[in-house]
Amino acid sequence: MRQALHEAAQAASAGDVPVGAVVLDPHGVPLATGHNEREATGDPTAHAEVLALRRAAAVLGGWRLTGCTLVVTLEPCTMCAGALVQSRIARVVYGARDEKAGAAGSLWDVLRDRRLNHRPEVVQGVLEETCAAQLTAFFRER
Ligand SMILES: [Zn+2]
Repeated sequence: MRQALHEAAQAASAGDVPVGAVVLDPHGVPLATGHNEREATGDPTAHAEVLALRRAAAVLGGWRLTGCTLVVTLEPCTMCAGALVQSRIARVVYGARDEKAGAAGSLWDVLRDRRLNHRPEVVQGVLEETCAAQLTAFFRER
């Protein structure tokens, strides 16, 4: 999560909301990172999680991230939760809750929806206050 927070800080420098993500392989070794790049790239899908998933898949040489873990500073949105299910990732760890758009327990729970064929383990609240404070500081400055 410390690495994800560091990644998130890079988003803020380009005017993007500071959200950072890291994908770890089944042994816990970092495979790829990502941070929000919507403002930087003009791409509405350039969320930290999607970018980190794409890069991890490129490193592994395939779309299945079986056994991998994604760590992200903010609860995933519906798009990212959908992408995480599609990637067959084993575990999702997040810091701050997103009461307005979260799809991993707050507004929706896409990751643990029993109607879907893949449900990753979800661990929430890791360094929650630090993750939330980083976002609060960003929005206060704007
Ligand atoms: Zn998202």
